[in-house]
Amino acid sequence: MNSTIDYSIVDNFLNIAKKEIKKGNREFISYRFIKSNGKTVTTKQALLDIGIINSKEIWKYILELKPDECFKISKDYDNKRDFNSEMFEFIKLINKKQVYIKLTINDVNLVCLSFHIANKEVFMKKIYCYNCNTYVEAKQKKEKNVYEFRGKSFEVEETIVYCPNCDLELLPDEVLDNEMNKIYNAYLNLFDLSFKKIKEIRNRLNISQETMAKILGWSKKSIVRYETGESIPQGEYLETYISLQKDPFLIIKLLEKKKKDFKEQEYYNILKKLPFYEEYKAINAVLYILENNPIYETALMKNMFAVDFNHAKKFKIPITDLKYVHMDFGPVIHNRNDFYNLMLKNSYIELEIDEDKTKFRSVYKSDKNLFSKTELSTLKETKNILEGHTAKELSDWSHKFKGWEATKTGEFISYEYAKFLDFNKL
Ligand SMILES: [Zn+2]
Repeated sequence: MNSTIDYSIVDNFLNIAKKEIKKGNREFISYRFIKSNGKTVTTKQALLDIGIINSKEIWKYILELKPDECFKISKDYDNKRDFNSEMFEFIKLINKKQVYIKLTINDVNLVCLSFHIANKEVFMKKIYCYNCNTYVEAKQKKEKNVYEFRGKSFEVEETIVYCPNCDLELLPDEVLDNEMNKIYNAYLNLFDLSFKKIKEIRNRLNISQETMAKILGWSKKSIVRYETGESIPQGEYLETYISLQKDPFLIIKLLEKKKKDFKEQEYYNILKKLPFYEEYKAINAVLYILENNPIYETALMKNMFAVDFNHAKKFKIPITDLKYVHMDFGPVIHNRNDFYNLMLKNSYIELEIDEDKTKFRSVYKSDKNLFSKTELSTLKETKNILEGHTAKELSDWSHKFKGWEATKTGEFISYEYAKFLDFNKL
């Protein structure tokens, strides 16, 4: 199909149209709902999407229309409207957006029938082929190509936009930007990243761009650019994103290292909003117990159980959000291996294998600021009571606890039983 437009006709139309607008013979037809860029929206939403403030602005942009911004001349077939005249369809760049504008002149005045962000298909039609020296209805095809970037080579499935008459690849800004973004994303995908994932990493951590910049010692500008795809992280920046993607807990380690750069209140506010705050608090409860007190696994489990149930007995709530299950040798932390691994991986504790038993030793001092006054006094009291007792004694004591007696192997022990905790039986 030959879509060549006679631009002198468009020029004529625009001259008349502009005179009518200036005379005030103009009408903006707005329907309650319209289709804009594949979505059904209200006319007002469509104007909002472009950034149009008022009707004056609409007419200002129409007055600026140039003949070559027209991509189609058609007849109005809508009998209800009975405009019985030619419709001129334009694509104009407004506020960096491709805006679709449809105009016609009826017996009375100039009518603007559409003014909204152009559908992708419409926009694709109006691409200039310098080989054919005209606007063409571009075609698209998928193609796999290999690219090289920073020493890596990778395949990208591209959308090739080309002229149907001469096969020339057409790369107007929007197409080029879109395809380049795809190529950079394919590079990032080698590291299981993408611009979208880069943004998600921060969102999952529940921190602002400013806070992330401060924790990492980067500029906020860098973070904004990485998240919007205006820049590709490299070197340590890329490594940090890869690490945070694999292990989001790392943000706590990085925050700890920068503690002195924050005001105390700010530091704890950030910490409390992080998704691992509860785990971090539980780790610090363990560090409190282990301070100058390396103990066997069984003893550590009884200490943690006693700490949480003791606080729950006195104040209705435990200190950590850990759950405890009934095991043969007493109550133990639910999913304790995951919890140990988290502590080991981040070097908060180390293990010492003594005969066939495992002894836990703290590497860090606990951060006492994470605990309230009642929590600290409960930690202190519980540790003092249990310290010096053998693992066997602690195990026997925990077997006398009503919460253990009332449950079966593998079952959760409810904090409802906290009131029965009795250190006198130890
Ligand atoms: Zn061509």
